Amino acid sequence: MKELQLTRVNKRYKLDNKMEFQALFDVNVEFDKGELVSIVGESGSGKSTLMNLIGGLDSDFTGKIVAGGEDLSKLPEKDLDKYRKNKVGFVFQSFNLISHLSILDNVTLALTLSNIGEKEKIEKATQLLKRVGLDGHLKKKPTQLSGGQKQRVAIARALINDPEIIIADEPTGALDSETSMQILQILKEIADSGKLVIMVTHSEKVAAVSSRVVKISDGRITSDTINPDYQKTPQIEHPNEAVEEKKEEVALSQAEPSSKKKAKKKKSKDIQNLSLMSAIRLSLHNMWASKVKNFLMAFGVAIGIGSLILMLCFSSGITDFITDTMKSYSDPTIVTISKKGEDDSMMGMLNYNNTSFKADEIEKLKNDINSHLEEKNIEYRISNDNLSQGVQLMTMVTSANIIYNPTNKDIDYFLKNEADQYYFNQDGLKEADIAFEQIMCIYTIPPYYSPSNVVEGKLSTKDGGIMLTKGGLEVFEDKSIFDANGKNRKVDIAFNLNGTQVFYSQEVTGVMDTSIMSGITVMYVDYEYFQQLYAGKSGNDPLDPNTLYVKTDSEETTKIINEYLASTGKYNGSIEDQLAGMFSSMTNVIGTSLVVISSISLLVSAMMILVVLYMSVTERTKEIGVLKSIGARRKDIKRIFTSESFLVGVLSGVIGILFSLFFALVIWIVLKSTIGLAPISFRWWYFVVAMLVSVCISMLSGLYPASKAAKLDPVESLRRE
Ligand code: ADP
Ligand code: MG
Repeated sequence: MKELQLTRVNKRYKLDNKMEFQALFDVNVEFDKGELVSIVGESGSGKSTLMNLIGGLDSDFTGKIVAGGEDLSKLPEKDLDKYRKNKVGFVFQSFNLISHLSILDNVTLALTLSNIGEKEKIEKATQLLKRVGLDGHLKKKPTQLSGGQKQRVAIARALINDPEIIIADEPTGALDSETSMQILQILKEIADSGKLVIMVTHSEKVAAVSSRVVKISDGRITSDTINPDYQKTPQIEHPNEAVEEKKEEVALSQAEPSSKKKAKKKKSKDIQNLSLMSAIRLSLHNMWASKVKNFLMAFGVAIGIGSLILMLCFSSGITDFITDTMKSYSDPTIVTISKKGEDDSMMGMLNYNNTSFKADEIEKLKNDINSHLEEKNIEYRISNDNLSQGVQLMTMVTSANIIYNPTNKDIDYFLKNEADQYYFNQDGLKEADIAFEQIMCIYTIPPYYSPSNVVEGKLSTKDGGIMLTKGGLEVFEDKSIFDANGKNRKVDIAFNLNGTQVFYSQEVTGVMDTSIMSGITVMYVDYEYFQQLYAGKSGNDPLDPNTLYVKTDSEETTKIINEYLASTGKYNGSIEDQLAGMFSSMTNVIGTSLVVISSISLLVSAMMILVVLYMSVTERTKEIGVLKSIGARRKDIKRIFTSESFLVGVLSGVIGILFSLFFALVIWIVLKSTIGLAPISFRWWYFVVAMLVSVCISMLSGLYPASKAAKLDPVESLRRE
């Protein structure tokens, strides 16, 4: 049987408008090993069409092509891939080397697709490159070679799997005549070593050297002549024999019936196909070839990933801040009761009138808690001895300011013109030599505060004085509670509550340690003194308390009272509840907007990856065609593109993490130096999440481009310029 038999082969191209174009008509021809066939014919006569059919690149024909005993028309896709990989080798007019791979990698590509070991690959490729006269250029890139050298590489690549048939479509078309003859000589040697070499040529000179000339005209074979003067070149050693033996060895070892059969089977599957590692290596090469593009893309994605991490860090930072604050306040035997306002929005909770206790309400609550304690068989009862009152004001909706007026300027204008506004005109004040600090909170000193909570100075008493946090001290240039004469500093305080403006001169007695709150300006005043201040000067009734402190006998009692209060739905039983309630609406808003922002940026990233990879498929159409011509399966191509999007994901993830670390540091420094606290906390798993998100997004976005690449028609891809 002949190596290659074509029987009544017809090829029709489908055109757009349901029309067909017949490129080959009833082609009957046979070729055998050892022949060097020249196919000649005018341009458009069907030579390339014929080559593509023989090479298994195009399986859409009628008739029969039997190559090496296999009927191509009947082969399923995966066997056709194998046929291309192992039985035929392609050489093209335009060389079709993959520009971002080295000469060595170009030649070994087909072996890489078969997952052949590194050592064997290099050994084989080096031998072949030597055979075509190219040793010493292994590490070069195709662009560094001349046309003739490129074609030698292409020939070496075609020979790497030791195919029986070599198809060369105008291999000398792009070469000068001298180089052409050298290439021809190599092809002739290959034919003379027992292979079937079929080449398309326009050159009379080339045709004259071959052993047989087949003429095609308008899709029909018009003549087929044997060259009687054809001289075989003397045989040189066969470079692929050594490897051939190895192949058999592998086959043998697989055939052996052993207990490890299953494991071996799995291994044999891997042996045949492109391994994940090789796919990643190929992708790395390609990504490196267009590194600027890929880096920019990863950079873009990294912004999204980085902002995701920052978002997570912020929300956990705020949570940590709250927890820390709670800890600094918490005493396990204190119940801190506050009222949930009717309006439980942020503003509602800050509204003092919503949350103050009337005397009868306190009495009723006391009785309710006591009867609950009785029900629970707890002996402890709330009495006037262990119940104390307090006022806690967040001054966001009122206004409160410490006014620092060292030169005793007239500050009446300030009170008349500005005091009702939420923010005061700071610049105006500075010009007037008056500084101010907005007070965030006014707290009466909780009964359980002791001198241990005082960093500097002493607790204010019912006879007077205020305490500040460290943040409050910032208003003074020397950040001290003492003035130039070493006396406790006097400050003016203006605040606005219930429509009443209160304005007093106060002595600063000390600095309160409230750990994480220290960055915020909090003014602490003794409860009784506060009431005096408020009621005395403005003629108001004392303020109703909005915080009740109950000193219990045990943690257990505290817990039961807290549970009861929570069950009423009207009260917060602890400072934790109170703060959590207050912050939750705030953190919800912040959290939601951060999530929305980072999802948008992630979506943008995904689109960007999709576009870039899609364009990369278009750019690399020819490369995909080459890969298919040397036997890459759809799966392999998909794998190469998927590993590329995987790598983009990893790269973006890494850059994103670095981004987030950098910006977190910057934000931390800025916040710490301005407001004195920086609610940013890292959790190690944020980085894991970010990495996963990055990789998933990239891989999902890469799915479509990868499957598009896999589906490309090899013939069309190769035709692409
Ligand atoms: P040659 O290689 O001999 O120059 P080809 O085999 O490339 O010629 O083409 C043979 C004929 O088939 C030409 O007329 C060409 O226009 C036509 N042809 C080739 N490919 C296609 C295609 N994909 N769709 C339609 N017609 C095609
Ligand atoms: Mg052609």
